[in-house]
Amino acid sequence: SAVAHEASCIFCKIIKGEIPSFKLIETKHSFSFLDIQPTAEAHALVIPKYHGAKLHNLPDEYLADILPVTKKLVKAIGFDVDGIDGPGYNVLQNNGRIAHQVVDHVHFHLIPKRDDKTGLI
Ligand code: 5GP
Ligand code: ZN
Repeated sequence: SAVAHEASCIFCKIIKGEIPSFKLIETKHSFSFLDIQPTAEAHALVIPKYHGAKLHNLPDEYLADILPVTKKLVKAIGFDVDGIDGPGYNVLQNNGRIAHQVVDHVHFHLIPKRDDKTGLI
């Protein structure tokens, strides 16, 4: 169950189902879904079920849930490809306007990178 929601936060609303999303994996501490403006096919966001604007605002138990979920998503989309060449992915997390953060609820981007450059970016 989610805690520390902020009424005006779009990502808190997504967690509560008040704004629709394409849900991927939900756990006790996190929620993941497809980005509405993907920079690549299957661009996903993994967010804590805790309203904090920046990484350092999160309790450790929420942080600890994020990377295992990200790893599951990598496997689910078939990007668990070994070897340094071929398909890859970025895990990206912005903190503050100066660092390009737009939504003030911590989120980790999972951005698949295809070796054939069919992604949008
Ligand atoms: P930031 O620049 O804050 O790191 O990225 C915010 C991301 O959230 C953007 O990639 C944007 O497309 C995504 N986003 C913003 N609003 C919504 C929404 O209502 N639904 C979904 N699925 N993604 C959103
Ligand atoms: Zn929030």
